[in-house]
Amino acid sequence: MSNRKDWDTYFMDIAYMASTRSQCSRRHVGAVLVQGKKLLGTAYNGAPMGVPDCTEAGCMLVEEYELKMVEGKEEVVRKQRCIRTIHAEQNLLLFTDREDREGSTVYVTDQPCWTCANMLANSGIVEIVFHRAYPKDSDKVIGLMASRGIIFRQMAAYEPPPGVLTEVVN
Ligand SMILES: [Zn+2]
Ligand SMILES: [Zn+2]
Repeated sequence: MSNRKDWDTYFMDIAYMASTRSQCSRRHVGAVLVQGKKLLGTAYNGAPMGVPDCTEAGCMLVEEYELKMVEGKEEVVRKQRCIRTIHAEQNLLLFTDREDREGSTVYVTDQPCWTCANMLANSGIVEIVFHRAYPKDSDKVIGLMASRGIIFRQMAAYEPPPGVLTEVVN
C-alpha cells in the first residue's frame, strides 16, 4: 500500500489549508477550484479587502430563527450568524474566470449555504465536493443541484489534516 493521497483527499486538504487564512472566529471555510487535476484557485471566507475583519472589528452577528425537528416535533431555534464575511465560495467565483470554471469541480470544507449554492449553480462548475454538513436549507440545495445536474457529494469519511482548526460555532 502506498501512502499517496487520492485526489479527493489532496484537494480537500488544500481547501482546509485555505480555510486557516480566515479571520472569522465562528467558521473557517476554504474552497478550491479544480479543472481535471489542476488547481485553478483557492479562497476562504473573509471581509472585503481593506475593510476591518472579524478579529479587528468582531463578528457582525445577526439573529435568525430556524425551524428544526427535535424528537419528531417542530421547534423554533434561535441562531446567530456572522454576516461580515464574503463566503469562500463567493470569493472563489470573484477570483476565477468563467472560462476556467466551465466543467470544473469545487472542493469546499463546508456544505454551501443557499446563496452560495445558487451562485455556484450558475457558475459553470459541474461538481461540488464538501466535507462538513450544513443542515440549513440542505434539502433545497440538494434539490437545486439535482435539477441543474451538478454532482453534489460529501466526503463523509474524510479527516482534515492535523492541526487545522475545525471547530464551528453554530
Ligand atoms: Zn465573523
Ligand atoms: Zn455561503
